[in-house]
Amino acid sequence: MADTTTHPDARIAKLEELFASLPGLGPRSAARLVSELLTTRRTEAQAIKDGLQEALTRVHHCPRCHTLTTEPLCNFCSDNTRDNTHLCVVESVADQKALEASLSYQGGYFVLMGRINPLEGTDPERLGLPLLLQRIHQDRVSELILATSYTPEGDVTAHMIAGIVRKHFPEVRVTRLSKGLPTGVELEYADVASIASAVFSRR
Ligand SMILES: [Zn+2]
Repeated sequence: MADTTTHPDARIAKLEELFASLPGLGPRSAARLVSELLTTRRTEAQAIKDGLQEALTRVHHCPRCHTLTTEPLCNFCSDNTRDNTHLCVVESVADQKALEASLSYQGGYFVLMGRINPLEGTDPERLGLPLLLQRIHQDRVSELILATSYTPEGDVTAHMIAGIVRKHFPEVRVTRLSKGLPTGVELEYADVASIASAVFSRR
């Protein structure tokens, strides 16, 4: 029986394969997306190509908070109204946005862009930990707030960072958002009231 999952044209099949390798897209939705981009959404396809091309040449980790940015410093780090003696460690930009939406935090951020996966053995350097230690030193951080998720990976990540920071900076208060947050989900899916209450009752 003929293979019905890939396109008979090799170039189109390659595109479908690339899209299907992205998180959240299966082979069928990838094929539908490619077909739309090549027919009714050619303008968007061109804009995606140009946008990606430009972003890929400009993007780098922010030298202060490790988030991705195309500017010398990200928006948060170039805002000098924030209280940088408090530093909050989040897993992702989505989690950072959720914390901002809760209006309960005015300090600085450090964005790991991931978390430790004990099974895959994530390299702490990929999460920017040397940069985190440098930031704590430079900004004379007094409190480090660990806002990783209450998932097994988030717990391991928080535990590891707390250990490293306590070893290098015993004077820094290390706290974690309180357990009022739902277990097993990322911060970005929690409601703003729960996040705000977790920030206020951190310990
Ligand atoms: Zn930054």
